[in-house]
Amino acid sequence: MIPYGRQDISEADIQAAVEVLRSDFLTQGPAVPAFEKAVADYCGAQHAVAVNSATSALHLACLALGVGPGDMVWTSPITFVASANCALYCGARVDFVDIDPRTYNLSVECLAEKLALAEKSGCLPKVVIPVHLCGQPCDLAGIHALSQKYGFKVIEDASHAIGGKYKGEQIGNCCYSDITVFSFHPVKIITTGEGGMALTNNEKLARRMQRLRSHGITRETADMTQAPDGPWYYQQIDLGYNYRMTDIQAALGMSQMQRLEEFVAKRHALASRYEGLLADLPVITPWQHPDSYSALHLYVIRLKLAEISKTHCEVFAALRAAGIGVNLHYIPVYAQPYYKGLGFQAGHCPEAERYYAEAISLPMYPGLTEGQQDQVVLALNKARRG
Ligand SMILES: *Cc1c(COP(=O)(O)O)cnc(C)c1O
Repeated sequence: MIPYGRQDISEADIQAAVEVLRSDFLTQGPAVPAFEKAVADYCGAQHAVAVNSATSALHLACLALGVGPGDMVWTSPITFVASANCALYCGARVDFVDIDPRTYNLSVECLAEKLALAEKSGCLPKVVIPVHLCGQPCDLAGIHALSQKYGFKVIEDASHAIGGKYKGEQIGNCCYSDITVFSFHPVKIITTGEGGMALTNNEKLARRMQRLRSHGITRETADMTQAPDGPWYYQQIDLGYNYRMTDIQAALGMSQMQRLEEFVAKRHALASRYEGLLADLPVITPWQHPDSYSALHLYVIRLKLAEISKTHCEVFAALRAAGIGVNLHYIPVYAQPYYKGLGFQAGHCPEAERYYAEAISLPMYPGLTEGQQDQVVLALNKARRG
């Protein structure tokens, strides 16, 4: 099976992890702060907080921004469930803003309309979480302008997008957002096995997230609410978690960072090759907004079903049967049984549902060979005819 995505681990990556295993600290040593600094410097952000997953980073980001019961958080329906679950963890409610038909990212027009309505009914969101789907940056300037007008905070779910650029600047610089979150799961752009990071230019938010990732405990006298009992003293001042990243993971991440640009360049080469190979097939290939340089985590095509005798499901099944590990990113979050249980109904975001009825993620990862790519296109050509 050719998977839809996979990690690329070098001998140097392995050596980096092994060195930590032979060192004094497996966790809470020097590798985590070094990795945080490397990512913050690369992205042009002032602070970075490494954690054990992007899911944890999203949770901490919501908590740091004060999301709690009675609050509303909005995100895109075409994303991994974690982008929405983070608000529910905090006791807040979630709603979804329909997608742009070309980029499949949260539509700024839909956001503007929904905000105008929400203002009238007095239920504006506290936080909006745009997702850079497939690694293609959202219309951040448009979202930022609306955040100024309506007073909400912005968390970029950039799980797909490290190495991507918006208007020539690195994703993660937080110029248009309060916090940006990356994932280092093995299928993502760079990996630490499991892992995530939250970037921000706001020192207070960074400190809050640092504290919450480790039980809500502080050793900084300035943050303490009463005088220390002695030099052993630490204080728990929040209810936090153990969301820490290990040094083994951070060393792997540090090593992977050195190949980030090479990984993204390889993905671009594969995407332009797909573009050529798929030109005569009844599919829509990914459209790239001129403001964006995508990290190309995913390569999503849409079937032109009116020109195909097979159904979406039949084409997908035939590809799987041919050994192509295609996937579907994503099922609209509100269509999940758990979200239906919260009261969401079919038809909530029509554009997202049209996308879901046609989308297929083809294999896309740095180690994908041209021969394998030819195999994917051949299988697709066969699958749509049957
Ligand atoms: C992968 C992913 C996450 C969660 O990442 P983990 O590191 O696995 O917790 C969140 N949001 C999106 C959009 C993702 O693709």
